[in-house]
Amino acid sequence: MSLYPHLLEPLDLGHVTLRNRVIMGSMHTGLEETGDWGRVAAFLAARAAGGVGLIVTGGMAPNAEGAVFPDAAGLFTPADIAGHRRVTDAVHAAGGRIAMQILHAGRYALGRDCVAPSAIRAPINPFAPTALDEAGIEAQIADIVTAALRAREAGYDGVEVMGSEGYFLNQFLAPRTNRRTDRWGGSFENRARLPVEVVRRIRAAVGREFLLIYRISLVDLVPEGQSWDEVTQLARLIEAAGADILNSGIGWHEARVPTIATSVPRRAFAALTGRLRGVVGLPVVATNRINTPEVAEAILAEGLADLVSMARPFLADPDFVAKAAAGRAAEIAPCIACNQACLDHTFTGRPTSCLVNPQACHETELVIVPAAAPRRIAVVGAGPAGLAAAITAAGRGHRVTLFDADARIGGQLQLAARIPGKEEFRGLIDWYATMLRKTGVDLRLSVRPDAGALAGFDAVVLATGVRPRPCDLPGAGLPHVLSYTQVLRREAAVGRRVVILGAGGIGFDVASFLVTGKSATEDLALWRAEWGVADPEADALRGGLAPAGPQPEPPARQVTLLQRKAERPGRGLGKTTGWIHRAHLAMKQVTMRGGAVYDRILPEGLVLRGTEGPELLAADTIVLCIGQEPQRDLAEALHGRVAELHVIGGAERAAELDAKRAIDQGTRLAARL
Ligand code: FAD
Ligand code: NAP
Ligand code: SF4
Repeated sequence: MSLYPHLLEPLDLGHVTLRNRVIMGSMHTGLEETGDWGRVAAFLAARAAGGVGLIVTGGMAPNAEGAVFPDAAGLFTPADIAGHRRVTDAVHAAGGRIAMQILHAGRYALGRDCVAPSAIRAPINPFAPTALDEAGIEAQIADIVTAALRAREAGYDGVEVMGSEGYFLNQFLAPRTNRRTDRWGGSFENRARLPVEVVRRIRAAVGREFLLIYRISLVDLVPEGQSWDEVTQLARLIEAAGADILNSGIGWHEARVPTIATSVPRRAFAALTGRLRGVVGLPVVATNRINTPEVAEAILAEGLADLVSMARPFLADPDFVAKAAAGRAAEIAPCIACNQACLDHTFTGRPTSCLVNPQACHETELVIVPAAAPRRIAVVGAGPAGLAAAITAAGRGHRVTLFDADARIGGQLQLAARIPGKEEFRGLIDWYATMLRKTGVDLRLSVRPDAGALAGFDAVVLATGVRPRPCDLPGAGLPHVLSYTQVLRREAAVGRRVVILGAGGIGFDVASFLVTGKSATEDLALWRAEWGVADPEADALRGGLAPAGPQPEPPARQVTLLQRKAERPGRGLGKTTGWIHRAHLAMKQVTMRGGAVYDRILPEGLVLRGTEGPELLAADTIVLCIGQEPQRDLAEALHGRVAELHVIGGAERAAELDAKRAIDQGTRLAARL
């Protein structure tokens, strides 16, 4: 008997049967624009081979004005079809099914030619859109229908029409962006006309045998968004217009509420999909922050959805479904929802990958094959760099011994997991523990090997990480001055008034740790109050935002976060998550200051130098988050005493270090050993 009977049950849609209830949700990876369709095919075929029921591609533009950015991939011309055909053939050969998402960005399109229901610029786009006239609207519909026909010709099993996230169709639906007074605006019926016509005409063009998914915005999370009543009316109209499946969309891109970041509670929006299920006869899909088979199964078992869509988890592990089906769920590499190698890359023009799985979207370049001859390899340091190196090398057949001075694996990931909103890091550490066992790594904890103990190995990988940078300010040795490691390990008491020196990722995290009582990530009601998310049905609100706004818990301490650079603290944080960290600390009344000139630390606080003389920031505790330096003393001792030495992760270079680089470096080294 399977542990996931609902998840693995086939779904008969009449003209097509899906082999299970798992959809790989749409993700733009950047590979589509390289023109290397072989690479796109390899990426998606690996997921099909891993058992997913249905793949939805990244959003494809139906025309140039609807493209998210200039030259974004699409199905504009018949010539585009050949590339897509390589993808569909590869997915079908791997036993999968695939639908192409049609994404018209409307006023989110980053270009001068962008179009929208009304000429209202999006806050996240420097370009103002042109309001479409009647003929312009008809032309957009025609292009969307043509894209669907071309998708069928390219061998797709169906299309998904992107109607959520604040894109073109969603812009017609919400009063926020639709101020028209003609038959495409004003009343609900008029605002809903475009999405309904799109679905109706696609169905008429492609016939009954072609899968048609509509992604509906369940909650816009912006002022003047749709009401719940309108969402349910639209769902019924879309059903009548001929859709086969309703997928859930949550929040517009311009919303000031996080919807998929790691600090969002798991399955935070599944209950809304459950309500939608009650109003339509179509299968509905739950989305957002679903990253384990247990969570997915529970949503289906509770009757909240007919299918679940997961996107990023398929970057982390292409074999998610196959491992769940085989009773090996603990071996699924977990998506920790960090966005660091996926969305942050996508939004900065770099190819998508995954912090946990550097092979994602690099399938044709980072190839891991069994070693020609097994070797004896020692890895020193069980942080992410050492862990990735150890499991990759052992997976290739090498005999690997992994040492760590600590009694637990994880290195700095152990500290990251203590930060409220970063609980997912625990799952990553657990996964490494599973994979060490699975690959047969000989793990030696609480051991600091010396040169003698390492001399007999064929190769030594030094992954001993970093230590906090020492502080040379006068007074840095006073007892109320603590390092971030002392604070996070709770090795010393922290007072009510705290000044933090250093506003990098760790400074932000330590501030969050010190001001937060209970983690809202583990308490959905608390999280909703914190971000001002209301029940859209019960409160009959537009957009699902609480009228009183965010109601965070009061801060546990009074914290000031400082940096020397004369810029806004937090600028270097992740592209897609930095705003969440800044907003969270602002909510907790943390004072964030750039341009600080440190003078000295006194028992009563920190003295800053200012143009008008010294300024004392009174504090009970000063916390140092001023960066780190490599910890590689062992490297000196090993030179000339071991056959082959490699230094990776923070031990190699502390600057620009994060878990993404550490894992990537560890994996790539071990792939060549
Ligand atoms: P480390 O993680 O430092 O691991 C080194 C290991 O070597 C340790 O286990 C140590 O015990 C062991 N060791 C050291 N010397 C010896 C010795 N002589 N013998 C045996 N063992 C030894 N990164 C992100 O990408 N995203 C985040 O969200 C994020 N959040 C963070 C939050 C916090 C609070 C902190 C502190 C860090 C965070 N990081 C984050 C950074 C990330 O954890 C580090 O960049 C990463 O862990 C570095 O990996 P590493 O393997 O090089 O070193
Ligand atoms: P960091 O981002 O380099 O920040 C170090 C901070 O210390 C900066 O604010 C810096 O700014 C200050 N500083 C540097 N040298 C100093 C000195 N000699 N005296 C006083 N202040 C000094 O490093 P980190 O915060 O230690 O984080 C380490 C790594 O972990 C980072 O690379 C980060 O990417 C990663 N991390 C990532 C996340 C994430 O969410 N992605 C979270 C935590 C950590 P000024 O010089 O302007 O004062
Ligand atoms: Fe998930 Fe982070 Fe990997 Fe993106 S980079 S898929 S969020 S683990």
